[in-house]
Order: sequence, then structure tokens, then C-alpha cells
Amino acid sequence: MEKELYFKDLGLSESILTAIGKKGYEKPSPIQALCIPRLLEGTKDVIGQAQTGTGKTAAFSLPIIDKIECSKNVQAIVLAPTRELVIQVAEEINSLKGKKKLRILPIYGGSNIVHQMKKLKEGIDIVVGTPGRVIDLLNRKNLVLSDIQYFILDEADEMLNMGFVEDIENILQHTPSEKKMLFFSATMPKEILVIAKRYMRDYEVLAVKNKELTTSLTEQIYFEVTRENKFEALCRVIDIEKDFYGIIFCQTKNDVNDIALKLAERGYDADCIHGDVTQSQREKVLKKFKNQTINILIATDVAARGIDVNNLTHVINYSLPQEAESYVHRIGRTGRAGKEGTAITFVTPREYRKLLHIQKVANTEIVKKKLPKVKEILKNKESNFIETIDSSLEMKNYETYNKLAKKLIEKNENIEELLAAVLKVALGDELESDTYQEIEETSFRSDSRGEMSDRGRRSRKEMHDPTLDGLTRLFIAKGNKDGMNVGQLVGLICAKAKIKRNLIKNAQVFEKFSFVSVPFNEAEMVIKAFQQEKVNQGKQSLVEKAKK
Ligand code: ADP
Ligand code: MG
Repeated sequence: MEKELYFKDLGLSESILTAIGKKGYEKPSPIQALCIPRLLEGTKDVIGQAQTGTGKTAAFSLPIIDKIECSKNVQAIVLAPTRELVIQVAEEINSLKGKKKLRILPIYGGSNIVHQMKKLKEGIDIVVGTPGRVIDLLNRKNLVLSDIQYFILDEADEMLNMGFVEDIENILQHTPSEKKMLFFSATMPKEILVIAKRYMRDYEVLAVKNKELTTSLTEQIYFEVTRENKFEALCRVIDIEKDFYGIIFCQTKNDVNDIALKLAERGYDADCIHGDVTQSQREKVLKKFKNQTINILIATDVAARGIDVNNLTHVINYSLPQEAESYVHRIGRTGRAGKEGTAITFVTPREYRKLLHIQKVANTEIVKKKLPKVKEILKNKESNFIETIDSSLEMKNYETYNKLAKKLIEKNENIEELLAAVLKVALGDELESDTYQEIEETSFRSDSRGEMSDRGRRSRKEMHDPTLDGLTRLFIAKGNKDGMNVGQLVGLICAKAKIKRNLIKNAQVFEKFSFVSVPFNEAEMVIKAFQQEKVNQGKQSLVEKAKK
């Protein structure tokens, strides 16, 4: 059992400890506990890896703040991929420096370069910047990095993804050979090590495994839904919560836009960010989300990467990410800083195998739950409403309406009717069940998980098979000309695959071939049952999954 560590055990100075205390950090996160002593004492360069939201910024900032002194030239430079991250890192450093006299400057494109040049001239100790603007200021000879002691790449994986390698190499040309290099990253693609080998001196990798991070404070659940029902399911999931505050992740910009629009139409306080949203618009949206003017943010992975918002109650995977790692990143945004969060994933039949894969790679358990029922949601909303009224009565914050109330009571004898009418005007259809659409129950997993995992291993290609409403469409290479009709077709499949008749939907018989739709699992059974049956001189299977 490892000894529990506190900030005071890590070798930081008193003044820094005071600043940390002021900031409200109680205990170092695992990556901080791992990195801070090594950065204070060690001589090696460091690659630090830990999941998003685990405090990597403070892990490299605290020792640097402690080690450097205010001086004529820039002492440390932190490179980060986006403007938001630059601002965030600069703010974090600033808030951790406490009483120490250090001057920190964020520099990024789109902001006033003259102002940045002026600040640099006055003297700066730590520069945090995007590569483009850093190069710009280096070329203007305004930024001088010849005396730096620290060179830090934050979100190193993302920097490489975004094609900043050449820029980084260019910036490195302006730095002295004697310096400490630190790379911090959520993931560890090979390219990072390639760069490290080329530019770092003797280095060590300090990594915190994802496992303990993903599951610890995040409840992970999934709902089985068809594509058609996803949006309706989303509304229910949001509505069942009293204070929903979350990010909804989608795969594509189009989905992001689409959902943002639909949610807004239904009266939710939602907005979105993705790659095509302009910087200034993104900043506006993020600000609104951070100060909770809006409580729903819809985003793509890239747009949301590294953005630091605390206290999320929910992360919703509207669709599953391609990589297990992205799943881990996404859900890492809930349950931050000791708070519990919930990660909800919508899984369509097509995505089911992907879910199993992610579960396995991320070494985590995602529990299946049933979508909230409309009745439950309305009951919740009603009791929340009653609570709100109670507290309003307690606070007596309605006095401006006393006169109007009196007037209404004088005019209407039946108080119950009157109140109901007032409620209708105030609440609209908020507590009415027909604001919700029916969602048919779908279940496309009836067998044990072990068996499904086995299938999951078969082929990734199968994930993209055409399915319809939670059903899989099957192609049968026989039709009217072979004497087939709908009754015979259904009978044949039931008998051979031993599945229930009512599971076979949408049987269609054409001249030379036929189609049926069956649930995901049954489709596997049918294909297996007919495996030996071939047509076309044995070249083609009688039953196959239908092509698009
Ligand atoms: P990362 O860079 O790993 O994604 P950040 O450095 O952005 O994570 O930190 C995520 C959030 O956690 C920030 O809001 C930060 O202020 C907070 N944080 C960092 N360290 C601690 C700590 N030891 N205790 C509590 N909160 C912390
Ligand atoms: Mg970070």
C-alpha cells in the first residue's frame, strides 16, 4: 500500500504551499505526486502522462514556479495547441504563484500583438503560447528564449496531431541546449517518443494509468436506443435530472449542429462548439457554459479537448467515439476534483460491438440501464416545482404579485381552477406528458456478455452492417421463382434457426430473392443456422446480411 501523500510531502516551499492552500487543493493528484518531487530534485527530462482533467498543469507548474526567480529574460516557455488552453494554463500558473513575484504572459494569435510585445519588453518570466504566435514574436526578435531553463509541451499528443512538429522544432532552434524539457500529454503515441529521443537528453516517463481514473468517480451507464430514438432519449436523460450540467459528445460537426438546434427548439439552454466554429464564438460559448448561463454543451472530441470545466454532472456520448481512449477522455470530465459524475452512453445496435471493445480496452464496466420513463420524469419535475414554490413561499420573494393575486381571486371563485390556469400560463406544457414521444423498448442483447465479447472479436467491419430500427436486415437468395412466399419464408427461418415467429419483421419476397428483419442476436443465429446452405453452385450463402 502506498503512503498517502500531501502537498507538504513533495518538497515544495512554504510560499507555494500557502498558494496551493488558498487555491483550495487539498491533496496532490497522482500525476502531481509523481512528477513534483522528480521535477524538484531530478536532473532528467520528463514525459508526464495522465488522463485529461487530472491536474497536469499544476504538476509541471508548481515545481517551475518554485525553481525560477524573477529575472531579465524569459525563464520558461509552455507551448499549448489552442488559445483556450494557453489562457487556461496561464491562469492556472498565475493563481498558483502566490506571493512570488513572477510575470506570466499568455501569447496567442488573434489577440493584440502590440500589447504582447510591450509586455515582453517590460520583462516576462514564463511565456505560455501557441506555436504560431510564439514563432511570430521570435521572428520579430521580441521574444528571446536564449536563457530559458524550461521548455514545456502541454497536450503534446494533440500538438503532434495538429501538425505542430515543425513549429516546435523551429522554436527549439531558439533555445539553449542546456535546459530541462518536459512533455505532458493525455496519451502516449509513438511520435512523442520519437521527438523525445531526438530532442530530450536523458529522460524518464512518469505515467499514471487510466484505469484508476476512469472508474473511480464516474458512474458509467449505457442505454440501448435506435438511431431514430436517440434525440428523444437525450431529452429524457436531461429532464430526469434536477440540475443537469453536461457535455454531449458527437462524432461529427453535423450531429453537433443538428442536436444543438433541436435542443434549442425544445427550449433547452444549449450551445455547441466544433472545428468550424470561429475562435471568438467558441470562447463566447465556453464562457456561457462555464458560468452556467447554458447548462448543455454539445461538442466534438477535438473541439472539447483539454477544455477545463469543473463540476459537470454528466457526460453524454451521443455516439461512441472511434477510440477507447477518447471514451476515457470524454468521461474523465465528470467526477473531477472529488465530485461524482455520470457518464451516459447511447448505444445503437451498430455500436454495440464498439461498446464491448471500449469496455475491454479501457478496462472499465459500463452498466446497462433502462431509459427513464415519461411518468418518472414528470413526477420528478412536479416535485421539483413544488420545492421551488415552497422555497419561494419561504423567501417571500413574490410581493410584487400580491396585488395581481388579489385581483384574480376577486374575479374567480374557484381557487383550484384559477391556480390551474395560472400554472398553465406559467409552465406551458412543461408538465404534460405529450411533450414526450413514445420510445419503443429495444433490446438487442439477450445473451451473456461473454458470448457477445466473443463475437465482438470477429470483425470490425461487421459493425457497419445495415440495420434498421434495432433490427438487422437479412438477404435470402431465394424468391418467387423458387416457389417462396412470405409464409414459407418465415416458417423456414423459424424452424431452422429456432427463433420465435414474432421476431421476424418486414418479410418481403421478390422474384429472385427475399428480405427479413430480425433483432441483432437472432440475425447471428439465423446466419449460423443457414451456414451450410449455399446457392449459385456453392458460391454464395443462402442467407446473408443485407448490403446497403
Ligand atoms: P489536465 O491538464 O490534466 O487535463 P488540469 O491541469 O487542467 O488537468 O486540471 C483539471 C482541473 O483540476 C483544474 O480545474 C484544476 O484547477 C484542478 N486541480 C488540479 N490539481 C488539483 C488538486 N490537487 N486538487 C483539486 N483540484 C485540482
Ligand atoms: Mg492540460
